[in-house]
Amino acid sequence: MRPIAEPYKVKTVEPIRLLTRAERERAMAAAGYNTFLLKSEDVYIDLLTDSGTNAMSDRQWAAMMMGDEAYAGARSFFKMESAVREIYGFNYMVPTHQGRGAEHLISRILIRPGHVIPGNMYFTTTRVHQELQGGTFIDVVIDEAHDPLSQHPFKGNVDIYKLTEVIEKHGAENIPYVNVACTVNLAGGQPVSMTNLKAVRELCDTFGIRVWCDATRAVENAFFIKEREHGYADKSVRSILLEMMSHFDGCTMSAKKDCLVNIGGFLAMNDESMLQAAREQVVIFEGMPTYGGLAGRDMEAIARGIFEMVDDAYIRHRIHQVRYLGSQLMNHGIPVVTPIGGHAVFLDAKRFLPHLTQEDYPAQTLAAALYIDSGVRAMERGVVSAGRDPHTGTNRKPSLELVRLTIPRRVYSDRHMDVVAWSVGELFRHREDIAGLRMTYEPPALRFFTARFEPVSVLVAV
Ligand SMILES: *Cc1c(COP(=O)(O)O)cnc(C)c1O
Repeated sequence: MRPIAEPYKVKTVEPIRLLTRAERERAMAAAGYNTFLLKSEDVYIDLLTDSGTNAMSDRQWAAMMMGDEAYAGARSFFKMESAVREIYGFNYMVPTHQGRGAEHLISRILIRPGHVIPGNMYFTTTRVHQELQGGTFIDVVIDEAHDPLSQHPFKGNVDIYKLTEVIEKHGAENIPYVNVACTVNLAGGQPVSMTNLKAVRELCDTFGIRVWCDATRAVENAFFIKEREHGYADKSVRSILLEMMSHFDGCTMSAKKDCLVNIGGFLAMNDESMLQAAREQVVIFEGMPTYGGLAGRDMEAIARGIFEMVDDAYIRHRIHQVRYLGSQLMNHGIPVVTPIGGHAVFLDAKRFLPHLTQEDYPAQTLAAALYIDSGVRAMERGVVSAGRDPHTGTNRKPSLELVRLTIPRRVYSDRHMDVVAWSVGELFRHREDIAGLRMTYEPPALRFFTARFEPVSVLVAV
C-alpha cells in the first residue's frame, strides 16, 4: 500500500528526553505507580491521553492573537458559535471550560433524583455528573462492545432491544434523555453507525425522549462511517458529521479532543428553552454565557480548529497513525482490542498478564511496567478507572481491563510509534516476570487520577 505521510510539516519543536532506567524506576515509585502522577518532564513519549495534548496549526496560533478578551459579547464567542452552527449544525451553544463542564450543565438541567440515563457504555466524568444529580446510568451498548475480540465494525452501537427494555421498565417519564457517545472511548474508540443513530432517534421519538450526543470524537466516528458504512464512501467527513448531528437534540463536547486545541468545550442545542436553561446554569458554574470559562483566544483557536478537524486529509492520517501502531503491536502477537479504534490502541491486560487477577490491577501494572521499560506513558482503563458502586461500595469489575495508548493529534511521528511498539513487545516477551500492584491510597471519587500503589514484589525485570 502507498504510504500516507503526515499532512503537515514541522515549524516548531519541543525537545523530549529519555531518562535512564534507574531514574525511571525512581520516578515511577515516587508517582505511586500511577502514570497520572508522573511529571511530564520525566516522560519520553506521552500517550496518556489525546485530551488537550494536540498540536495547534500556525493558523490557530495566529487566530489566538485576534482573541477578543471583552468580558461580555466578545467577537470570539460569535466566531465560535458560527463555527459550531456551520460544522455541527446546532443553532445555539454555550462555551464551557472543558467537556465535563458541559456534562455538569446538561445533568443539572435535565436529571432529577430517580431518573435513569441510558447510554452506550459509561464514561467516567459523564456518569459521575449523572450520579451527582441523583440519576443512574444504564448501559445499553451492544454486547460486542464488551468483547475485545469481536470484529463488529460498529462496536459502539446502541442495542435497540436493551434500550426498549429500559424504556418499558422505567417509563419514558423517568428518562430525561438517552446519551449516545460517538465514538465510545472506553470500548476502545469504537464508532456508532448512522443506521444505529437513526434507529435510536426513531425509537426515542415514539416515546418523546430527547437524544443527546457526547460528540467528543464525532469526527473520528464520521471517518469510520465513511470507510465502513454502505453509501458513505463518496461523502466528505464534514457532511457525514453534519448528518450524524441531525439525529440529536444537542451535544456535550470536549473541544480538547476533536477540535485540535488545548482547552475548551461546549454545550450545543437546537431548542431555545434549552439554551435559556444552559445560560442560567453556565453563569453560575463556568462564566458569562459568551465565554463560559474560556479566554477569547481559546474560543478563536476552537473556531479555527473546528474547520481543520473536518479536513479529509487530516482525519485520514490521524486514523491511519493510530492503526499503524495497532498493526505493529499485532505483528508482535500482542493482544489488543480490535478493530483498532479512532484515538488509541488498547492493550488487553487480561490476556497480556493472564497470571494476574483483577485484584492485582493488571492494567495499572502494565502501564507502570511500560513506563519503566521505555519512558512511554499510558493510562489504565480497567478496575481502577471503573471505581466503586456508590450504593454497595464494592469495586466495579469491568469486563474490559485495558491499557490505553492514546495518540495526541499532530504531535508524534510514525517513528515514535515504532519505539512504543518495540517496548510493548519487550514486555510481552517477559510478561511472566511482571507481578501485580496493591492500592495504598484511594481517593473518594474518580480514583484513577490520584490513587497510589506499591508492587507486591519486584514489578518488572526486563
Ligand atoms: C474527555 C471526555 C469527556 C470529558 O471531557 P473533558 O474535557 O476531559 O472534561 C467526556 N466524554 C468523553 C467520551 C471524553 O473522552
